[in-house]
Amino acid sequence: MSQTATHLRDFIRDIPNFPKVGITFKDITPLLANGDAFAACVSELSCLIENDVDFIVGIESRGFLFGAALAQLTGLGFIPVRKPGKLPADVHAIDYELEYGMDRLEIHRDALSAGHKVVIIDDLLATGGTAEATINLVQQLGAKVSACLFVIELEFLEGRKRLEGTPVHHILAY
Ligand code: AMP
Repeated sequence: MSQTATHLRDFIRDIPNFPKVGITFKDITPLLANGDAFAACVSELSCLIENDVDFIVGIESRGFLFGAALAQLTGLGFIPVRKPGKLPADVHAIDYELEYGMDRLEIHRDALSAGHKVVIIDDLLATGGTAEATINLVQQLGAKVSACLFVIELEFLEGRKRLEGTPVHHILAY
C-alpha cells in the first residue's frame, strides 16, 4: 500500500449498523472535508487512468464527488449514471438485482457511442452489483470500459468476481 493510501485510511470513518443493522458503513465525508486528503485521493485515482480514455463515468451519488474531481484533474469529460427518473433527456436503462429486490440505473442515450472508452468510478465496491450493471449499461451503448476505479474495496465481499474481464483498482482495501 502506498504512503498516501496509509494516510487516507485515517479519513474513512466506520459507522456501525447504518443504514441497517449488521452493515458497517464506510463514511467518506471526513476525507471529503480535508482538502489535502481529498486532493491526494483524486491524484492517486488519476494515476490509474490509461491515456486513451475519453470519459469518466460516475455512479450516483458518491461516485459523482470523486468522478467530477477526477474529470477536472485529468481534463476528461464526466458522464453521470443515475437512479431512475433523474436524467432529463432520452435514457438507456438497466435493471439489476439487489440483495432484496431490484434496482435500476440510467444513462443518457446520446452520452456515449461505439469507439468511446471510459473509466467507471464509485466510492466503494461491495458486492459488485452496481458496478456490474454500470459496465453493462456502458457496453450496451457500444462503448468500452477501460477500468473500474473505487476509493474503497470491501475485499471480503468478492465483488470483483462479478466484474471479471474489466480491470478493477482501489485506493483502500478492507
Ligand atoms: P454493491 O453494488 O454491493 O457493490 O454496492 C455498491 C454501492 O453501495 C456503492 O455505490 C456504495 O456507495 C454503496 N455501499 C455498499 N456497501 C457500503 C458500505 N459498507 N459503506 C458505504 N457504502 C456502501
